Amino acid sequence: MFLGTLVRSVRGRVAAMLRIAFAVAAMCVLFAANVERGYAAVASASASASVASGAASKQALRFAWLRDGQSQLWQADTGGAAVGLSPQSAMPLPATLETPLGSVWKLFVYGYLVDRNIATPDYTCSGGDPEEVYCCMTGGRIDREHALVQSCGRFFEPARLQLDPVDWRKYWTAANAPAWLRNLHAMTPTQRVPVAQLLAALQAMPARPREAAASTLVSVLTSGRGEGTVSHYGSLVRAKTWTMPDAARPGASVGGAAGWLADGTPIWLGGSGGSARVLASAAPRIAPLLTQVAVPDDGACVVVDFFSRYPIREVLGEHSSKRPSAMVPDGPLNGEFRVGFVNGNWARVTSRGELRLDRNAAGVPQLIGRFGMNDYVARVVEREGDTAQPEAAKALAVAARTYAVQHGAHDHGCLRIDDSSNTQRVLPRAPTAAARRAADLTDALVLTGVPVQYHHDKAAPGQMSWLAAKASAQTGLTFDAILARTWPQATLTSFQSPLSGDCIAVAGAREWLQRNAPLWARRMDGAAGYETPDLPAVCAVREGRPYADAQRNRVYVYRLQSEEDRIALAHEYVHLAFQHHPRGLDEDFVERTARVLIRTDNPIQ
Ligand SMILES: [Zn+2]
Repeated sequence: MFLGTLVRSVRGRVAAMLRIAFAVAAMCVLFAANVERGYAAVASASASASVASGAASKQALRFAWLRDGQSQLWQADTGGAAVGLSPQSAMPLPATLETPLGSVWKLFVYGYLVDRNIATPDYTCSGGDPEEVYCCMTGGRIDREHALVQSCGRFFEPARLQLDPVDWRKYWTAANAPAWLRNLHAMTPTQRVPVAQLLAALQAMPARPREAAASTLVSVLTSGRGEGTVSHYGSLVRAKTWTMPDAARPGASVGGAAGWLADGTPIWLGGSGGSARVLASAAPRIAPLLTQVAVPDDGACVVVDFFSRYPIREVLGEHSSKRPSAMVPDGPLNGEFRVGFVNGNWARVTSRGELRLDRNAAGVPQLIGRFGMNDYVARVVEREGDTAQPEAAKALAVAARTYAVQHGAHDHGCLRIDDSSNTQRVLPRAPTAAARRAADLTDALVLTGVPVQYHHDKAAPGQMSWLAAKASAQTGLTFDAILARTWPQATLTSFQSPLSGDCIAVAGAREWLQRNAPLWARRMDGAAGYETPDLPAVCAVREGRPYADAQRNRVYVYRLQSEEDRIALAHEYVHLAFQHHPRGLDEDFVERTARVLIRTDNPIQ
């Protein structure tokens, strides 16, 4: 059997992000501007000082964590080639190393709100406030989860939320938090704290708010300021970004992130530049340290009805050839077994207690598995695909997890799903380490906002071809980019996150593009560098100027009403069509081409 076709019903949510921005992103002003806009507005430059101030290593990147009671620090020079950090190169974290709190104060307010079950009204953008650029368009609103990912400080202001400083102190005192965290008035970006104490504060956050925050913060790497780094970090880093003016270098920034790894380890990252730049530059360096992170697999369970399309006749123990009648008793299975089907076929299964032999009401044997989510996903990856191309395997892991979340029946706190070519098939033995790694590195990640199908070798709108995914991986595409080829309008986020998508589709625009792109293709056929791109998603640009994101196969425009709007959409499409040619970077050529396409019937040279 080949890969089953998975069809998942559309969730009527607006869509959003799979990500990595480069190439085309840089073309239209917007991207550079977005990424590096920093927090100039947020930070009153006054008291803030650089992480690196006073230190000689102004290009230094610093990464610290708190594990097994030890705070360790790594430093790297960002000047040369990115060399991965090793566990052996860690040094004890000096108590004197300080960092501005930056936007990380919002994380502590968030945790307090969650744990105290304090209802929070959406923040409404009234306009005229530069800080609202991180929140919403004038007249728009933002909720708590989006406010955390987008770093909307206005949302979390204690005065707006009418937080009680006395209860705040009581709460953090009970959590044994450092003294500065007990003071509500210290929750400002300019507050400086020892990094060691920041790690202790992160560790002090109780499990429930920490897990809520971590689920939401997964989106920082997929749709927030860490966009473009999910291929390096997987979903192992759940951190709040921060960016502050660098007191040592007027006009420059320092930034980074603080939060947790998937196993709850508190982390802090700091360096020169805005948070997006620091996250990107740290990614290849930190990646080797993350291989040590054991991803807990207790966040969800999946119950599988094995061989659901093939009635079982009997289950025999391994040495049943010598003792043909040795039927296995009902209950948990330990060891190797042979499953005999009514149709005469046999299958081998291996279990260390995760499989159980049961009988239905009619006395027919049933094989039921119970797995952690990542164990389940790894078994699907190995059964439906393979791990020869790790990035393709990760893409399949996300698709398989998405399918289980969308189609599993809720059964006593678990998701229950058939092992079947109608759904997705599941390996009846422990998966390889490589398959488990594909699941772990994409821990919790799912696509939302799209119907998800995959097939062994047939690609279609909304349906990923496994062989095409492997071919894409072979050309160097990372798993998020592979997914974006099929699902440009989908959101990549944690299935435990309340966040939904962020691509607000521009009404009628994709349909309009779908009608016009083939006509343009004929007119641009033969133009140097032209390649017909996959039909991109057309999303509403929320800030800055229209832009194209080739990696995610999206274009962002304001609307589609006037001729100028149509030219703007054609412009971004032309960027995609010439993305592998220098002309794609030539704004004059792109704009001229867009105008010719919209205003004339002339061919493009
Ligand atoms: Zn442009």
